[in-house]
Amino acid sequence: MPPLPSELAFVPFVSVEHMMGLVHHIGVEEVLRNLADAIESDFKRWETFDKTPRVASHSDVGVIELMPTSDGEMYGFKYVNGHPKNTKDGLQTVTAFGLLADVDTGYPKLLTEMTLLTALRTAATSAMAARHLAPKGAKTMAMIGNGAQSEFQCLAFKAICGIDTVRLYDIDPAATQKCARNLAGQGLTVVQCKTAEESIEGAQIITTCTADKQNATILTDNMVGAGVHINAIGGDCPGKTELARDILLRSDIFVEYPPQTWIEGEIQQLDQDHTVTELWRVITGQTEGRKDAKQITLFDSVGFAIEDFSALRYVSQAIEGTGFFIQLDMLADPDDPRDLFGMFQRSKG
Ligand code: NAD
Repeated sequence: MPPLPSELAFVPFVSVEHMMGLVHHIGVEEVLRNLADAIESDFKRWETFDKTPRVASHSDVGVIELMPTSDGEMYGFKYVNGHPKNTKDGLQTVTAFGLLADVDTGYPKLLTEMTLLTALRTAATSAMAARHLAPKGAKTMAMIGNGAQSEFQCLAFKAICGIDTVRLYDIDPAATQKCARNLAGQGLTVVQCKTAEESIEGAQIITTCTADKQNATILTDNMVGAGVHINAIGGDCPGKTELARDILLRSDIFVEYPPQTWIEGEIQQLDQDHTVTELWRVITGQTEGRKDAKQITLFDSVGFAIEDFSALRYVSQAIEGTGFFIQLDMLADPDDPRDLFGMFQRSKG
C-alpha cells in the first residue's frame, strides 16, 4: 500500500456546482457587495501588485488569455476566453478558471471555476467604479447587451449603487426576455426596450455589455447626454469596441491598468497622448472622480488581473469551514522531496 499523501498535497477545488452553492448560501447581492469591497481594498494597495497586460492569444474567432498578478504574498492567475460566435453553437462567450498560490512555497492554495466568478467580479468592479463616478442618486440604468453578464451587472448596481430600475435592450429580443425573466422578483423595475435609444431614456447610468468581434457602435454620440455615467464592458479586445469615438472625446475616461486598456479598451480609438485616469487613483483620493453634474464619466472596463486576484482571495476565505469544495490530489508529495521516482515506483503496487 503506497503511503497516503500529506495534507500539503491537496488543493481545495471549487467546482461550478460548489460555486453556485456557495453564492446561494451567502446570497448573491451579499457576494457582490463583498467582492466590491475586496476589489476596492486591493485597488487601494495598487502599487504593491506585480502588474502586466494580460497575455492574449488571438484567433479569427476569439481570444484565450492568461491574467497573472501577485501582491508578494499570494500569486493568482485566471485563464479566460472570449468567443462571441460561441453562443450560436450553444457554448458560452466567456469561460474561465483560476488559481491562487503561496509565493513563499509556490504551492497552489486554491483552484476554482471562474466563469460564474468572472461575471460576479466584473459586475462588482463596475458597480464599485460607479460608486465613485456615477451621478449621485442615480436610480435608472440602461442595460444594453442582455447576455450572460447582464443580470449580474443589474444586481450589482442595485446592491452597491441603489439602482431601482433597469431598461433592457439587446439586438436579440430573446436575450432581453431571458434577462427580464431572470430579474423578475429581484426587487428591480424591469423595462424591456425595442431599441438602444429607447433603453437610455431617463437613464443616469448606461451599461454596454455586448459581444461582437468588431468596432461596433452600440452608442452614437447624439445618444449620450450631459451628466451620464457610461459603464462600457464589452469592448475588451483589439478591434472590439462599442462606443462612437466622439463620445470618448466628450467624456472623462477612467481605466483599470492603462498599458492593457490602450491595447484592448475603447481608448484604442484615441491618440495615445489623450488623458485617461487610473481608477485606483480616484479610490485612494489622489484624484477626483465625478466633479460636477454635467460631466460625462466613462469607465472603460476591460477586466484586470487584480480583480480576479481579489475574487480568488475572497473565495479562498469564503469556503473555509464549508462543504463547498473538494480536496484535489494535485501535487506530488514524496516522503523524500528528491525521491520523486521512488514514489512513482512504489505506486505500482
Ligand atoms: P454574451 O454573448 O452572453 O452576450 C452578449 C449579448 O450582446 C448577446 O445577447 C448579443 O445578442 C448582444 N449583442 C451583440 N451585438 C449587439 C448590439 N449591436 N446591440 C445590442 N446587443 C448586442 O456575452 P457576455 O458573457 O454577456 O459578455 C458580454 C461582453 O462583455 C463580451 O464582449 C465579453 O468579452 C465582455 N466581458 C468583459 C468583461 C470585463 O471585465 N470588462 C468581463 C466579462 C466579459
